[in-house]
Amino acid sequence: MIPRVTATVDLSAVQHNLQVVRTLAPRSRVMAAVKAAAYGHGAVPVARALEAAGVDALAVACLEEAMELRQAHVQAPIALLEGVISSEEAALAVYERLQVVVHDHWQLALLDELPESSRLSLWFKLDSGMHRLGFPLSDVPQLQRVLRERPNWKLCGWLTHLACADEPGSDFTAQQIGAFDAALQGVPGARSIGNSAGLIAWPQARADWVRPGLALYGCSPLPDRSAQSLGLRPAMKLESRLIAVRWFEAGESIGYGRRYRCPARMPIGVVAVGYADGIHRAFADGTPVLVQGQRVPFAGRVSMDMITLDLRAVPQAQVGDTVQLWGPGLPAEEVAAHADTIAYELFCGLTQRVHFRHL
Ligand code: PLP
Repeated sequence: MIPRVTATVDLSAVQHNLQVVRTLAPRSRVMAAVKAAAYGHGAVPVARALEAAGVDALAVACLEEAMELRQAHVQAPIALLEGVISSEEAALAVYERLQVVVHDHWQLALLDELPESSRLSLWFKLDSGMHRLGFPLSDVPQLQRVLRERPNWKLCGWLTHLACADEPGSDFTAQQIGAFDAALQGVPGARSIGNSAGLIAWPQARADWVRPGLALYGCSPLPDRSAQSLGLRPAMKLESRLIAVRWFEAGESIGYGRRYRCPARMPIGVVAVGYADGIHRAFADGTPVLVQGQRVPFAGRVSMDMITLDLRAVPQAQVGDTVQLWGPGLPAEEVAAHADTIAYELFCGLTQRVHFRHL
């Protein structure tokens, strides 16, 4: 049986992108973000590929995601970005040798319930301006005291997350980095600042550790730089096929709401992919796909199982032809902009109906 919609994930591209990150931040260790099923690319295969390429650590959102990796025998250090939410989770995190990111005092209280002999590894997350998670910077002296009083706890380091790293020249990013560095002046322990945008655009964010996600999957996190110009290779290619090619007259309408009106007699292609596969209904007419290597635009609303294309640029297109929705030659970040979203959301939004193939 030929799969209907296929996401082909090139793991060698992920490994290549890790090397690109290493070249950009040669003095930093790399904690790769593989949360949310490695941004929809498949947690276990991606984690194994990164581990084989010598990544220093992995980062997931929650315990469930870390357990999936440990059950697949991934041995690399794994950081839990949200930390733990119960004493049971704290005990499991220690048992599975996870690095717990601690962002609030209530989490410290949970960790204090662990038996004294527990070998807990932790990061402290500091809020330098994102105002989502993290201790205020002024808590650093208190956190140092916490550590002094708990000699069994091993500090992995201090981390912070940037709110506007993808905005070139943002004053706020410079302020965040400056405030974080100042709060930790003379304080022992590793530092981690930059995500993909941070480590690419902000040399000061290439601290002891960088934490890339998106760049590893081959997308540019910056509006003014293409992935290609950064040397990144897209890891995922999403494809389906034409299941109908039909000609319509000028003035005829296509699909729900009659949104698209044919400006001329023209071929319309129907592709077997829709919002039930993760192609957002918000995609506008004009969103590009590749048919026979040519860009052709969406023409009409996305429906549950189908999209419709203006095939005038490839009138020879036939039923059975492959249609690439994003991948090499068609960056997901560019496609995402046509639904007023970002590549992260496209990747994470792929549904169970999509068949995954890892190369
Ligand atoms: N660090 C933290 C704390 C994150 O939440 C994320 C992702 O959202 C990352 C790093 C990786 O970010 P990016 O995919 O933009 O590189």
